[in-house]
Amino acid sequence: MICSHCNKRIHIDKIVEQRGKGFTSQIRCPACGAWLGRSAWLLRIKLLGFYLALAASLVAWWLPDWRPGCIVVAILSVIALFTANLMDQLQVVERPPKVEQHFDR
Ligand SMILES: [Zn+2]
Repeated sequence: MICSHCNKRIHIDKIVEQRGKGFTSQIRCPACGAWLGRSAWLLRIKLLGFYLALAASLVAWWLPDWRPGCIVVAILSVIALFTANLMDQLQVVERPPKVEQHFDR
């Protein structure tokens, strides 16, 4: 994983702070302190694409009359699935608190 805020590689065993559960879980970058998460709608597209492709394949298998339409639906679902997979990256949910800089003269 690479932090989208500081572009540093995040080691899984170095993640100390985590919040949320399941799809909306977020992690805190150990290097810069930004909260990172995956977008929930991409995960929904992935799940939807997976089940739609599965359902269309089953219908195409059982109902030969519906086969052409179902194959198109299955192919589109798989394309959506792969596109969502490619776009799935960690996003900055919350920027780290800015460190105040003091310039002593
Ligand atoms: Zn970072």
